[in-house]
Amino acid sequence: MTRDEILAAFDRIRVWQQGDRRAVHKPLLVLLALGRLLRGESPLVEFAGIENKLGKLLEEFGPSGSERTRHNPFWHLRTDGVWQLSGPAETTSRPPGATPTITELRRGHVEGGFAEPVRLALAHDAALAAEIARRILNAHFPESIRRDVADAVGLDLDAFASELAPTNAGADSAAAPEQEQRRRDPTFREKVLLAYEYRCCVCGHDLRMGGHAIGLEAAHIKWFQARGPDVVQNGLALCSLHHKIFDLGAFTVLSGNHQIVFSRHLMGGEDTKAKLLAHHGAGLIGPQGGDCLPDPEYLAWHRAEVFKEPARG
Ligand SMILES: [Zn+2]
Repeated sequence: MTRDEILAAFDRIRVWQQGDRRAVHKPLLVLLALGRLLRGESPLVEFAGIENKLGKLLEEFGPSGSERTRHNPFWHLRTDGVWQLSGPAETTSRPPGATPTITELRRGHVEGGFAEPVRLALAHDAALAAEIARRILNAHFPESIRRDVADAVGLDLDAFASELAPTNAGADSAAAPEQEQRRRDPTFREKVLLAYEYRCCVCGHDLRMGGHAIGLEAAHIKWFQARGPDVVQNGLALCSLHHKIFDLGAFTVLSGNHQIVFSRHLMGGEDTKAKLLAHHGAGLIGPQGGDCLPDPEYLAWHRAEVFKEPARG
């Protein structure tokens, strides 16, 4: 396989194929496998040897409950032409739709890893691994949590910067030759921050220096990566901390009354809880003008695809 063919094969995987649902299983497995490869770990790994880590990644960065189907990418990635399986023929020779259970994969000691042509290409081209990882991260995760995802799979983003060609270095979603390339609206941030009067709509943070807001960001409710539009009704002004934990699903905003609801998975010591959870059940510090309020459709997407159920009582 040529470099372009390999990139194209990984690009096809990362396409969101299920409409609005987040398809995060295969991207996380690919990133995990890239991390293993770059650390020189064995090219094939038993499902049992990777499932805990994959489950944890899905729990942290996937929609609620997605860790329960952690075996799906291990099995289905083969149909994308970049992954191979080895193990008992009665399992590995099944048609793609006949997904084995978690128990069958464990018992059969089924091993998976990048297909040989991919592995060979990656072994001779560190920049290719970096480029695949960069494209997957950009396509599936908002910027606020990309570093967390990379750290969790053991990929060093800073080392990548030197591997990538100058034309790609530091680029965000604009560089990848995507079939449906979208441009970001450069005025999104300003529009959202202005609507919320330059303060975090959860905690009211409005620190400034020399007239500039510090640590204040415009978050997408429905991610840009999920085709969420750059409109005020899909934005929230959040401080850096609330932005990150919003994108990790630690809290959401109810669509009816705009109440802020935290996840039961969020914990911390007394001080942290007092600061963070004080906002549980509170209303959003609303924008100026009702026409800027978050659209219920985008809030519903965040609840279903990002928020970590269950909510605190
Ligand atoms: Zn805040």
